[in-house]
Amino acid sequence: MIFILETSQIPEFRESISLSTCSYRKIDLYDREVYFTWGGELEIEDKDIIRIPSDGRLVLSSRSWKEEDTVVDVSGVKIGGKDIVVAAGPCSVESEDQLEETAKEVKRAGASMLRGGVFKPRTSPYSFQGLGVKGLEMLIEAGQEMEMPIVTEILDIEAARNHGNKIDMIQVGSRNGQNYPLLRYLGTSGKPVLLKNGMGNTVDEWLSSSEYILSNGNGNVVICYRGVRSFESGTRFSMDIGSIANVKMHSHLPVAADPSHPAGKRKYVENLALGALAAGADMLEIEVHANPETALSDKDQQLHPNEFASLMNKVRKLSEALGRGVWKN
Ligand code: PEP
Ligand code: MN
Repeated sequence: MIFILETSQIPEFRESISLSTCSYRKIDLYDREVYFTWGGELEIEDKDIIRIPSDGRLVLSSRSWKEEDTVVDVSGVKIGGKDIVVAAGPCSVESEDQLEETAKEVKRAGASMLRGGVFKPRTSPYSFQGLGVKGLEMLIEAGQEMEMPIVTEILDIEAARNHGNKIDMIQVGSRNGQNYPLLRYLGTSGKPVLLKNGMGNTVDEWLSSSEYILSNGNGNVVICYRGVRSFESGTRFSMDIGSIANVKMHSHLPVAADPSHPAGKRKYVENLALGALAAGADMLEIEVHANPETALSDKDQQLHPNEFASLMNKVRKLSEALGRGVWKN
């Protein structure tokens, strides 16, 4: 059973559980105490305490116990509030010059966070694997210079342990969307996490992944839709904006969208980005490269800086029509 307690309910519950024979684990989440209990006998008199059977259904990510939107603070940038947040930057950090030029361009166009891959999860082991720690140092420096929090993917617990504290937001990529040991570890870290959906996952499976992080006490989760594999080959992945509307309705977590990977080609990125915002996304993560034709990864889908600037103009107009704004640092 899962018990979710308001502050006033805590003293009585603590006393009951101390007298009971059940096993339990406790976390603090969004100013509530959450108890997971197993076996034994537990008598709880307060009927108002939220209790949910722990039978595999979605719990902590759901609006059924937390109606209000969660806002995740990434080093001062607030994701999930009125303003739409845009993170942009190259698929991979390739050199100081490439990163610096790209970071300047995306900042000028209005992005408030800097993305850049350094530990790359490439399909082929013979493809560029990223600059690793050297690339991370470049990304950290560029983020500081531009005053933009950074978001970057880590692939394993070791990297999270060694580098997590230097990264503003840790990205869990599609290929690691169901890496439960990694998700559990990030749950204990408290760091903001950008959790992408596994490319073969349903919405329920994706939200269940978020519950691995939440149930270990980290409420700073933004879920990021990046499309799924389907029979369609016109785009690289299928971006179902219905899934964005669905998670927005059922989960209190902020929702991001990555239109770059499902597009596969830069000409589709703008329309997918605007569609995702219209469907309710709170954040966009977009790949931009100062000179995409020379990129070492995902060169067909990364936007030229002028294309990104033109997209940002439309994002501003659309956000106004939606009664929202665009976050500025
Ligand atoms: C990326 O953001 O560079 C990336 C690899 O994305 P995904 O995990 O969605 O494929
Ligand atoms: Mn990429």
